[in-house]
Amino acid sequence: MKKFSIALTLVCALWISAGAPTARAAPCLAVTLTGTQSGPQLFNGQAGAGTLVRFGDDSNDCGAVKLQFDAGRGTNMRLSQIGVRPAQLNAIFFTHMHSDHTEGFADIMQLRWNNNSKGPKLDVVCSVDAASPLGFALSCGKFVLHIGDAFIQSGEIAQRRSEDKERLAGGPAELANVLAFTPNDEPQLVWSSGAVKVSAIRSNHVAGHASYRVDTPAGSVVIGGDAGSDVVTPPRVTSTSAQVEKLAQGVDIIVHSAFHPIMGPDKTSGMPALLFYRQSLAPDLGALAKRVGAKHLMLTHLGPSMGTERHGPWKIPGGPLTQADYRNAVESSAFAGNIVVGTDLATIRIPAK
Ligand SMILES: [Zn+2]
Repeated sequence: MKKFSIALTLVCALWISAGAPTARAAPCLAVTLTGTQSGPQLFNGQAGAGTLVRFGDDSNDCGAVKLQFDAGRGTNMRLSQIGVRPAQLNAIFFTHMHSDHTEGFADIMQLRWNNNSKGPKLDVVCSVDAASPLGFALSCGKFVLHIGDAFIQSGEIAQRRSEDKERLAGGPAELANVLAFTPNDEPQLVWSSGAVKVSAIRSNHVAGHASYRVDTPAGSVVIGGDAGSDVVTPPRVTSTSAQVEKLAQGVDIIVHSAFHPIMGPDKTSGMPALLFYRQSLAPDLGALAKRVGAKHLMLTHLGPSMGTERHGPWKIPGGPLTQADYRNAVESSAFAGNIVVGTDLATIRIPAK
């Protein structure tokens, strides 16, 4: 009996030290926009597209599991503002290979290599190589494989390694564990850790685009990325993705790139129709959120950014947009849930504190 109780005590101690949520510490989910810039342009210090999803309980500030979705310019800077280091990320997921969603990855991997070459490796979850009908391929695998090449060529990797032999000779790419999947029209499980499950679905924007859903005991979130309808040009029922709608059934939070109708080809911005039509519009996202029963809609990657005169080279008809312009656009859909018009580091926590 005594032996048994010692063993039980040991098991309990191990379980608690592993950070598992206890019955008293309620599970929680926190979703933070690490960057809200739309496209490769720069405006007012905004970071490039990305979303951090954290799950845990009160004892670890919802931080037992940390998942980054996309990593645009300045992701590391935003993560540092909320006390998250590259070494603490459990996995990173890419929706697609556009630079505004990926250019912060080199920074994350370089710092992880510099300080944490002993591991663990970082899971990088993304589509398998995707052939574009235009005659080229989009390759997450090659992007990751070559992420440190410029620093290998410059001598940086060799120089830093001469100071610390534990740094991996192959540079930051050696610290990445690519988990590639073939996106299709049904949700598929692409990553899990304990009770946290991430599934993905194919969506339209560029070849290989995927949207993700995270399910946890505290709640769930869909990261749509830049998804748009498979029917690229009007006439069409909606600008949003039917696959994202399937993925988002009953979800708590939707995080999605959003364009404002003011940039449309029927107005005077001059933005090329193709670039406009391959994104989802704010009113249609409100309608989608209403149909799937979401409680929160977080607009991010705003096209155009609030307060800007121009979206890239294209002038905003009628002048800069405000938060109210985006809010009114969503409310025109009759979505009655919580609307967050995204700014960097905007966060939703479930349950609310
Ligand atoms: Zn984008």
